[in-house]
Amino acid sequence: MPLKTLFLSPPSYEGFDGGAGSRYQARREVRSFWYPTWLAQPAALVPGSRLIDAPARGLRTEDVVPLAHQYELAVLHTSTPSFRSDVRVAEALKEANPNLAVGFVGAHVAVAPEASLRASWAIDFVARNEFDFTIQEVAEGRPLAEIDGLSFRSGDRIVHNRERATLEDMDRLPFVSEVYARDLVIEDYFIGYLLHPYVSLYTGRGCRSRCTFCLWPQTVGGHRYRTRSVGHVIDEMKWAKAAFPQVKEFFFDDDTFTDNLPRAESIARELGKLGVTWSCNAKANVPRASLKVLRDNGLRLLLVGYESGNQQILHNIKKGMLVDVARRFSKDCHDLGITIHGTFILGLPGETRETIEETIRFATEINPHTIQVSLAAPYPGTFLYHQAVREGWLDVEHAELVDASGVQVAPLHYPHLTHTEIFDSVETFYRRFYFRAGKIASIVGEMLLSPVMMKRRLREGVEFFQFLRERRAVVS
Ligand code: SF4
Repeated sequence: MPLKTLFLSPPSYEGFDGGAGSRYQARREVRSFWYPTWLAQPAALVPGSRLIDAPARGLRTEDVVPLAHQYELAVLHTSTPSFRSDVRVAEALKEANPNLAVGFVGAHVAVAPEASLRASWAIDFVARNEFDFTIQEVAEGRPLAEIDGLSFRSGDRIVHNRERATLEDMDRLPFVSEVYARDLVIEDYFIGYLLHPYVSLYTGRGCRSRCTFCLWPQTVGGHRYRTRSVGHVIDEMKWAKAAFPQVKEFFFDDDTFTDNLPRAESIARELGKLGVTWSCNAKANVPRASLKVLRDNGLRLLLVGYESGNQQILHNIKKGMLVDVARRFSKDCHDLGITIHGTFILGLPGETRETIEETIRFATEINPHTIQVSLAAPYPGTFLYHQAVREGWLDVEHAELVDASGVQVAPLHYPHLTHTEIFDSVETFYRRFYFRAGKIASIVGEMLLSPVMMKRRLREGVEFFQFLRERRAVVS
């Protein structure tokens, strides 16, 4: 019998999209939650376990602490922005039930296992990097000293076991959607640009690109795209389609689903037979012929990380992308009727007032349907973090990456560009992109076509302006 195990995305800042599936943990412009997929995966390997996603459910610490008595093991997913608050939750659980074994997982503890364990008496162990089977073995009650990939407390000592071998046979991972159905309320999960309700899952891990800021490939995922077989993915999709008849869209949240185009096209053809609407992450270099195959088989939207409209910045961050290729790709998507949600980052190495202007102009020219503008976030464990520390671009007081309410700060500054200038440029970017006659008309048109969309966009509009007001209050 495995230990009675609770998998917990801990309570955090109000509306914090920081669960075990969020790449950049922060309170977003509009209510937004990714599925806690990285916790659902080990939960699927531990019979009788339960997954609780506190932020998405609106649960606070006092709501989850009474559960401590019901379990023998609690596994908490943490991140750099939420670590301090996650430690407080762990301590509250442990105070309520001193016999509860508490472990942390996630990129933050994978990068700094020793410091994480020393941060609190309440953390008994951390599972490093890819932790699914590490946690399964802990839950089976194996001696901690024998579990690869684990760091644990032994008296006053911290012990680091050897690394766990990278998972190659991805079909060994059971379906996360079964855990979603068992433990989550799928209507809790909103992403502004995805239809609602949506379900997201991974068909593979890792990304072949080496973008210097990007956390997961440099920590838990690696730079090889390790994939589940087409049949395994489609079996899960058939199951999920039947289990969630209300779902309007499936999202493949692989770092770059289009990294293996023949496979992406094979999956698409099978999805076409199922008749589902789906979306995925993509790099802005997918050839038109492949886009057409994906579109013809149910692809609705691509989430595309453009990051910058300045070629030198793309080189500086090792994006492996040419601005002109991204232009052509965007035009192909428009021609084929594929919606784009474009993401941009301000404050990357090489940023100047001029490059910010260039990126805003680039965004309005390629005109994704919606955009997200983030501040460059140097996560520990990334090339960008080491570069920023070495160059003196990162101040200690900004190292947690969010402010007291969970909103992103501008952690980096340059001799020619201050924190405040970078921070303020996000609002300028949003205003210049959305407050154009053509863009307003397209959003109003979308609202007029659907009462559901009308209600949703109005709510998001209120949240968006409130978010901007709060950001301004932080700096004034
Ligand atoms: S292409 Fe996307 S997922 Fe891959 S390393 Fe770059 S930012 Fe990360």
